[in-house]
Amino acid sequence: MNGEEFDTEETGNGRLSAHAVLVKLSYAYRSDPGAQRPTNEDFAGAHAPGTPDDSWEHGALFVLADGLGGHAAGEVASRVAVETILQRWTEGSGGQPHQGLRAAVRDANAAVFDAAMEHGRRGMGTTLTALTLCAREAIIAHVGDSRAYLVRGGHCTQLTSDHSRAAEMVRMKLITPEQAANHPARSMLTRSLGGEPAVQIDIIKQPIDNDDVLVLCSDGLWDLVSRAEIAEVCGAVGSPGFPTPNEAAAHLVDLALKRGAPDNITVLVIRITSPLPFPPAPTRRSFFRRGGG
Ligand code: CA
Repeated sequence: MNGEEFDTEETGNGRLSAHAVLVKLSYAYRSDPGAQRPTNEDFAGAHAPGTPDDSWEHGALFVLADGLGGHAAGEVASRVAVETILQRWTEGSGGQPHQGLRAAVRDANAAVFDAAMEHGRRGMGTTLTALTLCAREAIIAHVGDSRAYLVRGGHCTQLTSDHSRAAEMVRMKLITPEQAANHPARSMLTRSLGGEPAVQIDIIKQPIDNDDVLVLCSDGLWDLVSRAEIAEVCGAVGSPGFPTPNEAAAHLVDLALKRGAPDNITVLVIRITSPLPFPPAPTRRSFFRRGGG
């Protein structure tokens, strides 16, 4: 079962959706402009060939980006970032998967930075959260205020830190998490991809179990849908209500739309469906080369 859909006419990155049920995992993503914005500046993508599972040349990779800058800049930044990472990843990485992931994100930073210079789009940038699976670990590369969650045993745990002023103030205990939820600085980013020639990238490693659900989302979703609701919906993936991540992703987007959805909404849901290890990314190729040289 596979599906992919793009609808980009006049709406930035438009509505996106894709889903697949593979041997060791199933996944889906949905991206929607929301109820109040004319264009979608979010973007998402996945690389997860499923046949034959154990001969994957490269591990699965899931990427989500929330573009910044307005006036056709945000939608370009998010798309350039996601497409660059997927391309670098599938070209082959050197060393350990987390090194390959970091190198791909660095290349994406340079690609967005170059695109901003080229088109005179100062202030263009994007958040970036990318996840790969290696052996029995999820490895996440993260910049900005999109989030990765782990849903396990009825609980939803945030795996990433928000790189925003409001989150920084919470960490410094200047405001409470409750105050941060409505704080004017909650969407002011302290780190983004593409704004500077170099970027600091968080790498997070999380052991995974069979039946775990990993969720990536932009702030347009987490601002309106609580962790408890994400736990409830994603914890039920595999049940008749939400047989696959596709139904869960659609339901989460619908919840945000019903609540007014002032921002673009993107969610990516991955369910681990096997106790077997994932093949790691290959180690035999050399490091990424920029510009194909
Ligand atoms: Ca957003």
